[in-house]
Amino acid sequence: MHIYRLPALSDNYVFLLHDVIYNLAAVVDPADARPVLAKLKELGAPLVAILNTHHHADHVGGNLTLLQQFPDAIVYAGVEDRGRIPGQQAFLQEGDRVAVGDRVAEIFFIPGHTRAHIAYYFPPNTLAETGELFCGDTIFSGGCGRLFEGTPAQMVQSLAKLRHLPDDTRIWCAHEYTLKNLQFALTVDSHNPALRQRYAAVQALRDRGEATIPTLMGLEKRTNPFLRWDDPNLKIVTQAKDEIQTFSRLRGMKDRF
Ligand code: ZN
Ligand code: FE
Repeated sequence: MHIYRLPALSDNYVFLLHDVIYNLAAVVDPADARPVLAKLKELGAPLVAILNTHHHADHVGGNLTLLQQFPDAIVYAGVEDRGRIPGQQAFLQEGDRVAVGDRVAEIFFIPGHTRAHIAYYFPPNTLAETGELFCGDTIFSGGCGRLFEGTPAQMVQSLAKLRHLPDDTRIWCAHEYTLKNLQFALTVDSHNPALRQRYAAVQALRDRGEATIPTLMGLEKRTNPFLRWDDPNLKIVTQAKDEIQTFSRLRGMKDRF
């Protein structure tokens, strides 16, 4: 499975999954149909599936245009998003599976950013492959999604599920927010050497106009404060009484950053 990262809108990424053996494609969170249609034409591959993580317009905006061009494509999203996803035909729950060519995604139910948010995790089939995680607006590179419809406790539970995935899992976040996220992270975790090193690397990438996505789970676990709610230093910095409050206060500080 080859993954293409297509920039869309101001800072979104749409991911096109191409199975080269069967020559078929799926798309994750098509904010806009145009870059997807252009890439499909270039590949000469039909679109068989639209995989939505949640209902926000910058994730589902291209669904109906893509369905017009590829009426046989199936639109997948979470069962709790029923009624909010244009063209939805499949209603996914935790533990469900979705095949794209020879890779099979496992579904995680990860409420927090929205109450219906899901993630698609493709575990590796062979030693040459890595796990591929499409988590919409839940984990960002160096950050996490805002809590529009969920509680801090729900988000921590959702992030904890994802944090169990192997360190070499590639995380395909739906926005290019890394630099700003790391600027915030440095305000709460300035003594973390891995974070400082990462900030310099990301700054160099962005200076050259390059993308910082995908990121890796291991790197996120070391440098993303929103995956470190159980870090003793972050508990002190936020003056929190427990892990949920550590997370909640970090999220509040980031909202105001
Ligand atoms: Zn969103
Ligand atoms: Fe978004």
